[in-house]
Amino acid sequence: QNKRPVRGRFAPTPSGELHIGNAWAALLSWLQIRSREGTFVLRMEDIDTQRSRPHLASQILDDLNWLGLDWDEGPDVGGPFGPYTQSERMEYYDEALKQLDDKGCLYPCYCSRADLLAAARAPHGLSSEGPAYPGTCRHLTQEEAACKSLVKAPALRFKVDHEMLIFQDGVAGQQEFDAASGGDFIVRRADGMISYQLAVVVDDDRMGITDVLRGSDLLDSVPRQLMLYKALGMPAPTFAHVPLFVGPDGKRLAKRHGGTSLAALREMGVAAEQVVGWLMWIAGLTEKLEPLTARECIPLFHMEKLTSNPII
Ligand code: GLU
Repeated sequence: QNKRPVRGRFAPTPSGELHIGNAWAALLSWLQIRSREGTFVLRMEDIDTQRSRPHLASQILDDLNWLGLDWDEGPDVGGPFGPYTQSERMEYYDEALKQLDDKGCLYPCYCSRADLLAAARAPHGLSSEGPAYPGTCRHLTQEEAACKSLVKAPALRFKVDHEMLIFQDGVAGQQEFDAASGGDFIVRRADGMISYQLAVVVDDDRMGITDVLRGSDLLDSVPRQLMLYKALGMPAPTFAHVPLFVGPDGKRLAKRHGGTSLAALREMGVAAEQVVGWLMWIAGLTEKLEPLTARECIPLFHMEKLTSNPII
């Protein structure tokens, strides 16, 4: 894998404005790639059409440009490179689902949210999306499944078995997870929506991504992603999860914490160089707090210097 050309990405979900924490992850992932003369791509993760808003996608592009972050490729739309957009890539996800199904990695699940809540005896495991799935539908007979499918479209779950997954995170250090602690996970919802886990693995593979750097809220997704890489016979990238920005209450940065979006900072007349310089200083990559352009930061990026403490 080290011999693959260096490629990285920033993959925002256009469901909210970019805040200072997202800008930090974007800047660091861009620097990680630019400092090694790799290729950087931008991917709009708009697969959840209910949460995604087209005007937020264009605002994200505008904010990234303002910060001085650029990307090297994208679908040819007859102008500057557009970003890759998940909602336009359904064929690739369907292909991967078929491949997983052919290998016997999936099963249909008819459980409703209420069924899951009622069955939730397992302790909260590796899944950040709720209690571990107890496996109710994994052992349905064909007749039982056929009968249930008359009244309800199924979700598709990926079968997870007990296995210790160990990986090195570039910032968080060595991580160990019991693969089974989150239970079998959904790769396609009953309404047809592809899960983040599947889409991100398929896209990162198709885009040849070798280095993933993102916020530590996604650290607990890595085991599920590693299982998918393995089942699909794809090489996994290296991972680095940078700490989250939290409010004074210790909770993840959100609207209630005030004007932390880039849009709000821009409105206040803050310059991009001030934001970039501050983000570098917070990261532990500069000793002096001073305005910097993104390009000026390229030689200053050193993964081993990055702080792993949450940023308040
Ligand atoms: N789209 C995800 C988010 O905005 C990030 C996905 C990733 O970097 O793997 O939280």
